[in-house]
Amino acid sequence: MTQTIKQLEHGESFIERHIGPSAEERQQMLEIVGAKTLNQLTELIVPADIQLPYPPATGDAQTEHQALAELKSIASQNQRYKSYIGMGYNAVLTPPVILRNMLENPGWYTAYTPYQPEVSQGRLEALLNFQQMTQDLTGLDLASASLLDEATAGAEAMAMAKRASKLKQANSFFVADDVHPQTIDVIKTRAETFGFNVIVGKAKQALDNSDLFGILVQLSGTTGELHDYTDLLNQLKSRGVITSVAADIMSLVLLESPAAMGADVVFGSSQRFGVPMGYGGPHAAFFACKDEFKRSMPGRIIGVSKDAAGNTALRMAMQTREQHIRREKANSNICTSQVLLANIAGFYAVYHGPVGLTRIAQRIHRLTDILAAGLQLQGITLRHATWFDTLCVEVADKPAVLTRALSFGVNLRADLDGAVGITLDEATTVDDLNTLFDILLAKETAMDIDALDRQCMAQSHSIPASLLRKSAILTHPVFNSYHSETEMMRYMHRLERKDLALNQAMIPLGSCTMKLNAAAEMIPITWPEFAELHPFCPPEQAAGYQILIAQLSQWLAQITGYDAVCMQPNSGAQGEYAGLLTIRRYHESRGQGDRYICLIPSSAHGTNPASAQMAGMAVVVVACDKQGNIDLTDLREKAQQAGDKLSCIMVTYPSTHGVYEETIREVCTIVHQFGGQVYLDGANMNAQVGITTPGYIGADVSHLNLHKTFSIPHGGGGPGMGPIGVKMHLAPFVPGHSVVQIDGVTNRLGAVSAAPFGSASILPISWMYIHMMGAEGLKMASQVAILNANYIAKRLSPSYPVLYSGHDGLVAHECILDIRPLKEECGITEMDIAKRLIDYGFHAPTMSFPVAGTLMVEPTESESKAELDRFIEAMLAIRNEIRRVQAGEWPLDDNPLVNAPHIQTELVQEWLHPYSRDLAVFPSQAVLNNKYWPTVKRLDDVYGDRNLFCSCVPMASYQ
Ligand SMILES: *Cc1c(COP(=O)(O)O)cnc(C)c1O
Repeated sequence: MTQTIKQLEHGESFIERHIGPSAEERQQMLEIVGAKTLNQLTELIVPADIQLPYPPATGDAQTEHQALAELKSIASQNQRYKSYIGMGYNAVLTPPVILRNMLENPGWYTAYTPYQPEVSQGRLEALLNFQQMTQDLTGLDLASASLLDEATAGAEAMAMAKRASKLKQANSFFVADDVHPQTIDVIKTRAETFGFNVIVGKAKQALDNSDLFGILVQLSGTTGELHDYTDLLNQLKSRGVITSVAADIMSLVLLESPAAMGADVVFGSSQRFGVPMGYGGPHAAFFACKDEFKRSMPGRIIGVSKDAAGNTALRMAMQTREQHIRREKANSNICTSQVLLANIAGFYAVYHGPVGLTRIAQRIHRLTDILAAGLQLQGITLRHATWFDTLCVEVADKPAVLTRALSFGVNLRADLDGAVGITLDEATTVDDLNTLFDILLAKETAMDIDALDRQCMAQSHSIPASLLRKSAILTHPVFNSYHSETEMMRYMHRLERKDLALNQAMIPLGSCTMKLNAAAEMIPITWPEFAELHPFCPPEQAAGYQILIAQLSQWLAQITGYDAVCMQPNSGAQGEYAGLLTIRRYHESRGQGDRYICLIPSSAHGTNPASAQMAGMAVVVVACDKQGNIDLTDLREKAQQAGDKLSCIMVTYPSTHGVYEETIREVCTIVHQFGGQVYLDGANMNAQVGITTPGYIGADVSHLNLHKTFSIPHGGGGPGMGPIGVKMHLAPFVPGHSVVQIDGVTNRLGAVSAAPFGSASILPISWMYIHMMGAEGLKMASQVAILNANYIAKRLSPSYPVLYSGHDGLVAHECILDIRPLKEECGITEMDIAKRLIDYGFHAPTMSFPVAGTLMVEPTESESKAELDRFIEAMLAIRNEIRRVQAGEWPLDDNPLVNAPHIQTELVQEWLHPYSRDLAVFPSQAVLNNKYWPTVKRLDDVYGDRNLFCSCVPMASYQ
C-alpha cells in the first residue's frame, strides 16, 4: 500500500484508456524514433515559432463515470415535450433491434467510408437497400446513398438543375412558398454564392416566368396541404425546366410517386424512418433523379459490379464525378455524408416491409383524419382540405392555444399567421388525440374517437383519389424477408461480419483520423433527453443543449485559438463552405465584395476547391516544392497577381503531406498583406491540439472535423460535424437561421444547414472526449499521435521510403510511403499492397492521396504498440513477398499480391497458384489467431461504371 488516494484515483484515468501505448511502451518507442520525452519529440518536430507557450484551458481530466454523471445532469435540463411541430422532423419509434444492433454497435458505427469495397460489402449492401427504398418511394430510376439533410439536398437539387438544364441562359430558380422555410433559407444562401436568382411564390406563378432553369415544389406543403402538380410540372418540363419535388418519406408510402407526377428530382429527409430527431440531426436525406442526370447527380452512389472472380460485388460507382478527382469541377463538395443514418432508415424499411410501413403510414393518416373530423365537428376551421399528417388549424387566440399546449407538455407549430400547425407521427396515440382536442377546444371534451374513426374509415377525402399510390412499393425480397427479430438480427449481423471496422483492427488511413470512439462517449447520444428534442422547439426547453453547445464551443475556441465557434455545418466540407461564406460576407461588409480569388496549394484535399467553387470563388492553384511545402515564391506571385481580388487562401496544417511546414506564419502574413483571409483546413487538428492552434499560427477561420479529431465515429461514411472557429472580426458573418433565433447565439444571416446547430445530437461525443481527456490528455493525445506516426515511419522507412519529412527526418501525425520506385522496378502497385493488407487483417491505408502511387498512414494515438507492431510486421512481410516477385520466384501476374484479397471459396477450388493456400490466407501467426475473411475478391471498377446498376440485385445472385 504505497499510493495515496490521489494516486489510486489516477488509476481510473480515461487518458490511459484512450491512448494506446502504455507509459513504458511510449518510452521504448521514443528511443526508436530518437527522443527522450514526448515534449522533446514535439519540440524537435513542431516549428518553435508556433508552439504554444501554455496549453488551452479545457479543464482537468474526468473519469468516464464522472463525465457521464455531469453530462446526465446537463441533459436533464432539456425538457421532453411532445412536439407536433413537424416541418420535416417527427417523433419516431426506433425499432429496438436496430437501436441495439446497429446504432449502438461499433461493428457498424466505427467503420470507414467504403472506399475499399472488399472490406465493406455489408454496409454497401445496406446502402443499396436504402437506394432501392428511395427509388421505390420516389418512382425514379436512380438514387444516391444519402445527402446531409433535406435543406442541403434542396440546394443540391437547384445546383444540379442548373448543370442539367439545357436552358443555359436561364438564371432563376423558382421555389413554391410552402416549401419548408429552412429549405428555402439554405437554397437562398447557395443561390447567393452561385449568382442565381431565387423566386419564392405560389407554385403556379412559375409559369409566368421565362427565366427559369428549375423549380422546386413540395408534395405536402409545410402547412400540410397536398398538391397534385402533374399539370404544372409537365408544362414546365415541356419548356425544358428541371422539376424537383421535396417529399415526406412516410407520406410517399400512401401517395403516388412524384415521378408519376413528372418530377425529375425527388428528395427529402429519411429521419422519420427510425432516426430520432436529436435536436436537428444527424439524419440522412434521400435524393433521386432520372437516369439521364446520373453524371450531374451529387453525392455517392452505390453500384453493382463484379469482382476479379466474376462474382457480384458492390462498390461506390462513378467516383470520378466526386470532389476527390474533379475538384472545383465536381458536382458537389460532399465527402462525409450520413451513411449510418441512411442504413438505419434502410433497415427500418427492411424490418417493417411494405405491409408494416403501409400500416404505420395509414395509422398516422387515420389519426390525422380523426383529429380533423373532431375539430371540424366542433366548428373549428382547417386551412386546407387535404393532408397526410399535418393540419393547419385556424385559431382566434393563438397565444392562448400555445400556452395551453405548453401546460399539457405539448409543442405545436407557432410561426403561422392566425393558425397553429399540428403534425402527427408514428409515436402519436389515441390518448394524445384527446389531449390535442382538449388543447384546441379549450375544454375537456369527451370525443367519441371510435365514432370519428368509423366515420373517417367509411369516407375520407383528405387524400384526393388522384394522389393515392397505385404502384406497389418494396417488392424486392430484402424488404419481405426479415420481419421476425431473429431474422432481422441475423441479417444485420451477417452484413456486419462482411465488413472490417475498428472493433476488428486498426484502420491506418491517412488524412482521416480513425481514433477510438469510446463507449462512454457514445452512450449519451441515445439518452431520450438528447434524442427526442425537436430542433425548432422553444429554446428554453433545450436548456441542456444550450449548456452543452456553449461549453463545447468554449473548449473548441480554446483549442483552436479562435474567438467564436459556429456549430451549424454538418460535415467538414460544409464547414469549408460555411467558412468561405463567412469570409465572403466579411469582404462584402467592407465594400470589397469583388474579392473572389481563392488560393489553394496543389496538395489540398478535393473538398477545398469544390467548396471554393460553391462559395462563388475562383480557384488559383499554388505550387508545392520538392519537399511538399508551399512554394512561397509562387504564393507571393499569385497573391500579388490577385491583388485586390484576393479573397483568401485555404491551407491544411500540418500539410496533407504530413509535415509541419516551417513557413506557415509567413504564408499567413503574405496573404494578409494582400488583404486576403486565411482559411486553415482543420482536418489535421489531431496534430495540433494542445501543441499549437490555428489562431496562434495566424489563421482567421477553420473548420474542425469532430468526426476525426474529436472522437465522433465515422459511421461507415457519416455522420460528421464540421463546426467553424473564427476570429472576432468574422464572428458577425457566420451562418444564421431563419426559424430559430437565440439571443447571443444565432444571427439571421442565411443558413448552410437545415438545423441551427447541425447534427446536435452527436455533440455529446466530443463533449465527453474533451472532458475526459482534459487539457493534459488532449495534448498527450496529439503527442502520442505524432509518436505513433514516427514509430511507423522509422520502422518502415528501410523498406518503404517515406516521401516527405521535416528536418531530422521526422514526420507529423501521418506519413506517406512511396510505392512508386517499387512499381517502376517490378510492377507491384500501391493497390496490390493495399489489397494484400486485407489478407493480413487490415484495412488499407489511404491510397494515392495526396500523391499518386503512395500509401498514407495515420495511426492515431489510440492504437497500442502491439497493434502498430502487427501492422508493421504485416507491411514488412509484404515487402518480403515483393522481393520474391522481384527475384522472379513468382510471376508478376500470379502472386499473393496481385491476387489479393483471397476469399474462402477459392480454397476449395483447384489451386493453381505458385504459392500455397496457407500463405494466401494465413500469412502470419497474428492472422491465424484472428482471421478476417473478406467476402469478395478485388473489385472491377471499370465494369461497374460501364454497366451502371444501382438497385438491389435479385436474391438469387447472392447464393
Ligand atoms: C476529411 C477532410 C475534409 C472533409 O471532411 P468531410 O467531413 O469528409 O467533408 C477536408 N479536408 C481534409 C484535409 C480532410 O482530411
